[in-house]
Amino acid sequence: CGIIGIENNENAAVLASAGLLTLQHRGEESAGITISGREKMRTFKAMGLVSRIFNEEILLNKLPGTVAIGHVRYTTSSKSSLINAQPFQINCIHGNISVAHNGNITNFSKIKELLLKKGAIFNHTSDTEILLHLIAMSKGSLTDIIANSLRKLEGAFSLVILKDRTLIGARDSNGFRPLVLGKIDNSYIISSESAAVEVIGGKYIRDVKPGEIIVIEDGQIKKSLIYKKTKRQTSCIFEQVYFSRPDSIMFEQTVKEARVKMGEYLAQQMKNIKADIVMPVPDTGYFAALGFSRTSGILFENGFVRNHYVGRSFIKPSQNLRNLTATLKLRPIGEVVSGKEIILIDDSIVRGTTSKRLINVLKEAGAKKIHFALSCPTIIGPCYYGIDTPSKEHLIAANNSVEKIIKYLNVDSLNFLSLDNLVKACSSDNKKSDVFCVACFTGKYPTKISKSA
Ligand code: 5GP
Ligand code: SF4
Repeated sequence: CGIIGIENNENAAVLASAGLLTLQHRGEESAGITISGREKMRTFKAMGLVSRIFNEEILLNKLPGTVAIGHVRYTTSSKSSLINAQPFQINCIHGNISVAHNGNITNFSKIKELLLKKGAIFNHTSDTEILLHLIAMSKGSLTDIIANSLRKLEGAFSLVILKDRTLIGARDSNGFRPLVLGKIDNSYIISSESAAVEVIGGKYIRDVKPGEIIVIEDGQIKKSLIYKKTKRQTSCIFEQVYFSRPDSIMFEQTVKEARVKMGEYLAQQMKNIKADIVMPVPDTGYFAALGFSRTSGILFENGFVRNHYVGRSFIKPSQNLRNLTATLKLRPIGEVVSGKEIILIDDSIVRGTTSKRLINVLKEAGAKKIHFALSCPTIIGPCYYGIDTPSKEHLIAANNSVEKIIKYLNVDSLNFLSLDNLVKACSSDNKKSDVFCVACFTGKYPTKISKSA
C-alpha cells in the first residue's frame, strides 16, 4: 500500500490526491482521503484507481480542510472490498481519529483474540483495525496513546494518523516499509516514498526512523521520539527490486541507481554469456537492463511495447486465449527480436507464469535464444511484511531446481543476481549493508511469525 499525509495546507486534499496518484503503483484496489482541520473530520474512499475516485467536485467541495491523510490499497492479508479500504476513521473517547497503514501486523490474530475477549467488535478483516481498538482503549496524551498502542504490535507498519490539526507519522521498529518526511512551504508531508513529496512540489527531508513517532501540527514538528528499539533495522530490500518508484530516494540513492547497479552486477556474474541484445521486461527491468548493457557492452534494445491501459480485471482468459493477456499487455516487436540471441532482464520470478508467457511470445516472434536474468535471487519464501507474494507452494523457485525452471520456462539459461550483489547494489555505502530484510530469499525471517499471520 501507499500512504501520504500533509498538514497546515489550504490545498490539503488536492495535494494528498496528487500524492496518491504518485503512489498508485503501491496499490490499485482502493483509495481514500480523510480530511480535517476546518470542519468535522470526514473520509471519502472507494474501490478503484485514484484518478477515477477523486475529481474536482469531491476534492474541492466534499473535502474541505487543512490536514489530510490518504491511502492506496493493495491487499495482502485480507479481503479486497470497500469495507477494508482505508483510511479508517473512528470516533472514540479521544475524538475523531483516522489511520492509514502500509504493512502487515504479524501478531494481529493474537491481539484480536485478546480484544474480542474484552468485548471489542470488529467490522473489518483488515489487521489495521486492531490498532484502532488499541488507540481507543489507551489513556494519556495523544503521543502516549499512539506509542503505547504501537509497542504492542509486531511486524510491518508505516502509518499516518490524523487527529484535528495534528498529523502523526510512525514506523515499526524494524523499518520494514519505507516512510519519509518532507516539506512544502509551511507544510510537512509524510509519505511512503520521496517521489510523492517531490511530485507535489515539496522537498525530501529524511526518512522517518525505524521505531519513530513524529507529531506535527501547524507547520511545526511538536515531537519526535523513538518509542521502540529493535536490534537491527530490516528494511524490505524488495522495495528497491520491484515495488518502489525509480525516482524515490532510498538509502541515500535513487531506486533507479540501485537498479542500474543490480544490472551491472548481473553483467559481471554473466561474463561468459554472449548475446546480440539486452532487453528489459517493462517497466521494472528497465534500469537493470541499462546497467547490464553499460557493463557488458551488449546493445540495449527495447523490444516490447507496453499497453498501459490494460486493467487488472482483464486477467482470466480461457485456455485457448492464453497468450492474449501476455500480448495485450506486452507485445514484442518482431523486427527487434527476430533471429536474435537475447539477454532478457526482469526483476523477479514469483510464480513463473507471467515469465513463461512472455518467453513464449518472444520465441513466437522469432527470438533465437533467450538468456533470462533476474535482478534478485530466487524467491523461496512468502512475505509476511506487506508484499503480496503467494504462499510457498506457489513460488516456483521454492519447489523446483534451477534446471527444472529452465525447462519449464523454455529458456537457454537462467541467471539470478546473488544476494551479496543485491545487498551491495541497494546500499550506497558498505557500512549500511546490514539493514535489509532478505527473508523471502533466505527463509530467515527477522521477526517471529505467528501461524495465522
Ligand atoms: P511470475 O509470473 O513469476 O509470478 O511474475 C513475475 C512478474 O511479476 C515480474 O515481472 C514482476 O515484475 C512481477 N512481480 C514481482 N513481484 C510481484 C508482487 O509482489 N506482486 C505482483 N502482483 N507482481 C509482482
Ligand atoms: Fe521484503 Fe522479502 Fe522481507 Fe517481505 S520477506 S519484507 S518482500 S525482503
